[in-house]
Amino acid sequence: MKNDTWGRVKQQLLESVGRNNYANWIEPLELKTLDNGVAVFSVPTSFMANWVSRNFSDTILLHLKAANESASRVEFKVEPHQAGASAPAPTAKPAVKSAEPAQAVAPSPEPRADELPGAPLDSRFTFDNFVVGKPNELAHAAARRVAEGGPVTFNPLFLYGGVGLGKTHLMHAIAHEIRERDPELRVLYLSAEQFMYRFVQALRDRQMIDFKQIFRSVDVLMVDDVQFIAGKDSTQEEFFHTFNALVDQNKQIIISADRAPGEIVGLEDRIKSRLQCGLVVDLHPTDYELRLGVLQTKAESYRNQYPGLKFADGVLEFLAHRISTNVRVLEGALMRLFAFASLVGREIDLDLTQECLADILKASERKVTVEEIQRKVSEHYAIRLSDMIGPKRVRSIARPRQVAMYLAKHMTTRSLPEIGRRFGGRDHTTVMHGVKRIEELKGTDSQIADDLEMLRRTLEA
Ligand code: ADP
Ligand code: MG
Repeated sequence: MKNDTWGRVKQQLLESVGRNNYANWIEPLELKTLDNGVAVFSVPTSFMANWVSRNFSDTILLHLKAANESASRVEFKVEPHQAGASAPAPTAKPAVKSAEPAQAVAPSPEPRADELPGAPLDSRFTFDNFVVGKPNELAHAAARRVAEGGPVTFNPLFLYGGVGLGKTHLMHAIAHEIRERDPELRVLYLSAEQFMYRFVQALRDRQMIDFKQIFRSVDVLMVDDVQFIAGKDSTQEEFFHTFNALVDQNKQIIISADRAPGEIVGLEDRIKSRLQCGLVVDLHPTDYELRLGVLQTKAESYRNQYPGLKFADGVLEFLAHRISTNVRVLEGALMRLFAFASLVGREIDLDLTQECLADILKASERKVTVEEIQRKVSEHYAIRLSDMIGPKRVRSIARPRQVAMYLAKHMTTRSLPEIGRRFGGRDHTTVMHGVKRIEELKGTDSQIADDLEMLRRTLEA
């Protein structure tokens, strides 16, 4: 085959793989020979040989055949191109803008793994920096297990849980660990939103072949916040195919979402059931111990940045107690506290903490619900929850009911009619009467006073 035929085939390839791929992967190829149906190309690096062979062989073959060349196989030989040869040296800067699309971008002969269309990894999100506690120990263990590599035992690993509980942190930690252990492995991490964006872009630019090739040639695929593609039908469809193709090749997939697969509304059933095929683990809301552990770890690392700053006893405990389950909020609070303390230059004590974090503390004040109050009060007095709401008027039930009404009035922002509705549709005057009765008893009956105090404390905890 004459090189001008290859020139024409290249033009075809430019259209089919898109300009960037063409510039990076096709343009640097040199056709050496085409004998007995075998097309031999020289490529500058072995990485490139692998990549092109894995991702573009079929397309190249297809176009050779279309050009009436009797080709049945393509081979890539690594031959470092010499200076002055047609392909630019690895260090070449992108050529100045040119009318020729083929030359617009210089080939990058050694793309690193992070040049996959993924999102950058946060270098702080490592296993070392992840504090393990009861609420996240399973998720952590599963993530560790996947990061170790070896035969794929559960696929996918599905991590779910509320905002700020460490899903993204764990996924990045897995990616860091795998890349460190085996830099050759192609680990692709991205959010479901980015997946959709790439997909739409590929459709628009007619680069679907390319899109499929890239996503199906990774060794580890991680898609964060998959709930995002719920209700987005064609993205789901493509995701499903990508997913299946990788599972068939025994490639590890790691997915996160804000809830369990079965609870994602607008996600196709076949996807739900595929997601459930692997290991599904959830990150529970943090508990006091985990929050304290996170705070202690972070405070330790801040101390290096702000030497000389001290926490008074009890400050971290206070924060762990008062700030909600979201670790991101916890981190933000601590960072603000350190910055503030370094400005005013004094020890961080409880007063300073409360002053500096007033808004955060207020926002994460625990919001008690009427239902919780009813549950706790029923437990406390050992009556049935249904009786609390039901019509019975015997004292042993009516009194606890009044206690619950009183607490609902004082611990929630519900109005009297709203509270009445939650007590089996009672009238607001009934609630008012109940609240009054308990207020009176509080002063005269120490048992009631003690009960109220006890219940209030457990509800606030
Ligand atoms: P999610 O993806 O579940 O919304 P992230 O992984 O983004 O949450 O976590 C929010 C922040 O909290 C991050 O800065 C992360 O490093 C931190 N974080 C969450 N869980 C932990 C943990 N167990 N130990 C240390 N930091 C954590
Ligand atoms: Mg996240």
